Amino acid sequence: MKSLNKGCFNPFFSHIYVENKVWDHPRTKRILAQYRQAQVIRIGHYKDVFCRSRQNYMLQHRSQKLILAAKDTQMLYRGSPVCQSFGNTNFYYTSCMMNCIYDCEYCYLKGMYPSANIVIFVNLEDIFADVEQMLETQTLYLCVAYDTDLLALEKVAGYAAAWSRFAAGHASGLKIEIRTKCANKRFFESQEPLSNVIYAFTLSPQTVVERFEHDTPSLSERIACAAKAVSAGFLVRLCFDPMIYVPKWQDHYAEMLEQVFSVIDAEKLTDVSVGSFRISQDYLKKMRRQQPDSAAVWFPFQADHGYYHYPKELMEQMEQELTDRLRQYLPNSRIFLWNEA
Ligand code: SF4
Repeated sequence: MKSLNKGCFNPFFSHIYVENKVWDHPRTKRILAQYRQAQVIRIGHYKDVFCRSRQNYMLQHRSQKLILAAKDTQMLYRGSPVCQSFGNTNFYYTSCMMNCIYDCEYCYLKGMYPSANIVIFVNLEDIFADVEQMLETQTLYLCVAYDTDLLALEKVAGYAAAWSRFAAGHASGLKIEIRTKCANKRFFESQEPLSNVIYAFTLSPQTVVERFEHDTPSLSERIACAAKAVSAGFLVRLCFDPMIYVPKWQDHYAEMLEQVFSVIDAEKLTDVSVGSFRISQDYLKKMRRQQPDSAAVWFPFQADHGYYHYPKELMEQMEQELTDRLRQYLPNSRIFLWNEA
C-alpha cells in the first residue's frame, strides 16, 4: 500500500467513517483491525459524508479517508457506450467500491464523484446475490473494477480474490473482468487461474505514467506483473486505453509496445484493447475546474454527442497507428478498438 501522507496532510485513512448498519459487519471489523490508529466515526448514511456540497476533490485526494457502507440501491449497471464489451453480450458493470488510491489526471472519477474519499461497500454478498439472480435468465459479462482499482486495494478489502472465488462457482454463465494499473505480483501467487476471470492491465508509455498517472506503478512494473500472470496461466488482457496525447506520442507508444512484447508472449494474451481518451462533457467540465494546470484535461478536444475526444484526425491517427503496430503481434480477432465495439 502506498503512503499518501503528503506534506502537512493527515495520513492515508486517518479517519474511517462507518455506517450504523454495517457497524457489526464482519468485513467492517476486519478492515478496521488494519487501521487501529484511525479515528472511527459512526455515520447514518455514506452520502452524508460523500455527497456533502463544496468538497475539494484534489485536496481530499491528498489525504483520502475511508467510508464503510452498505450498497442499498442498484447493484448492476449496463456498460456505458464509451466502454468496450469485447464482443460480449449482456455487458454490465458493478461498483463495490468508489474512488481510487491512484491519481490519474484524466480519470473520469474526478468528474463523476463529489468526493475523493474511498467508499467500500462491505455487503459484497448482496451484489453476488443480484448477479446470481440475473444469471438465472441470462449470461453475464461483468466488469467489477471500473470505478476503482480493486487490486490496488486488495490488502484492505480482498475483493479481487472474493470476486474470483465467486466466479469460480459460476463458470457456466458468468465472465468477469478485473481492470487494474496495479503491479501486485503476490496476488497472482495466491490465486488459481480461472477460465472466466480476465485480468485487464492498463498500460501507458512511461512518459504518460510520469506526467499524468500519479502514484501508479511504473510501466515496467505493470508489464512484469502482467507477464507473471500470463506465464502462470491467468487470462490477461492488455488495455492501451485510454491513449493519452503527449508530444512525440508515436515514438513513446512504439517504444512501449517493444518493451511489452519483449517480455510478454503475445500468443498467450487473451486480447488487447485500443482507445484514445474520451469522456462525457459534464465530467470534463468538473475535471477542468479541479485541475486548471493539467495538459491532459485542457487539451482542445472535439465535442461529439455529449462526449469529448481528440480532434477526429488525431484520434484516428493515434488509434490506427497503435492498432497497426499491434497487428505485428496479434491477429485482428484479438485486437479490440473501442469505437468498433
Ligand atoms: S487507476 Fe483507473 S480508477 Fe484509478 S485513478 Fe487511474 S484511471 Fe482512475
